[in-house]
Amino acid sequence: MQMKKLYGGIEAGGTKFVCVIASGPSHIVDEIRFKTTTPDETLGRAIKFFQPFISSGQINTIGVGCFGPLDVTPESPTYGFIAATPKPGWSNTNVLGILRGALGIKIAFDTDVNVAGLGEYKWGVSQGYDPSLYLTIGTGIGGGYIKEGRPLVGLLSPEMGHLRIPHNRELDPFVGNCPFHDDCFEGLASGPSIEKRLGVPGATVPENDPFWNLEADYIASALMNYILTLSPKKIVLGGGVMQRGFLFSRVRWRVRELLNGYVANKSLLENIDDYIVPPGLGNQSGSLGAIALAMQLEERVKDSRV
Ligand SMILES: [Zn+2]
Repeated sequence: MQMKKLYGGIEAGGTKFVCVIASGPSHIVDEIRFKTTTPDETLGRAIKFFQPFISSGQINTIGVGCFGPLDVTPESPTYGFIAATPKPGWSNTNVLGILRGALGIKIAFDTDVNVAGLGEYKWGVSQGYDPSLYLTIGTGIGGGYIKEGRPLVGLLSPEMGHLRIPHNRELDPFVGNCPFHDDCFEGLASGPSIEKRLGVPGATVPENDPFWNLEADYIASALMNYILTLSPKKIVLGGGVMQRGFLFSRVRWRVRELLNGYVANKSLLENIDDYIVPPGLGNQSGSLGAIALAMQLEERVKDSRV
């Protein structure tokens, strides 16, 4: 019997790390999850997890989706580094260099949201939809845009969470909590901004609280901008805030209201329930996306040998 080729994947999040050995969602051989602490301890645990699979020859490529801000420009001298971050101890950590040095195998590297978007495109709910957009709305807000099967990286990795959106200060006097822009999308609609504004975590705010209409309006405003500029064929909304499932119908309704018929496409006019959707891979978009990223790297290496 021919065994499917295995890959390593790391979802390197700001709060937790997930390391997997898999060939896809239906074949996950091993997996561990642990809290993100110091770089030494956290990367050390990941390295220890992968070493036996590498020395036995079971894997020779790993994909990593890492929290940011991150340098993902291969030509840059700080490629693979985490830039200045409020997360203690992680500023200027050479994540890619540490992993490469310890593991000695090929490593593909990208942002956590790009990689989660790739996972949803390869095996999840945006399969067959190109281009597609994955957005996480949680501790932070970020987006991964997948075009021609690859995450879009240009001058830098897009920072979709910091979009400027309308803020009616009479309706919402909260100044916002982005340290760079105050009331950008992330500053107004992320999990911490909700908690700061209301004094309690969003998870405990009842569904009938009028705040949620405001939240849906902010999300819909941002989505309108992505729809008009990026024209994704599918929009996946993940992250802690979107665990409040009732938000989906409100966001869909508000997107249609804001667009006001201007984008006359069936997906928006008739099938919006299938257009703005939760992740198909649940909490595994990131770790499986890292597997998909490793596969893409191996394909590129093969191609370049021809
Ligand atoms: Zn911002």
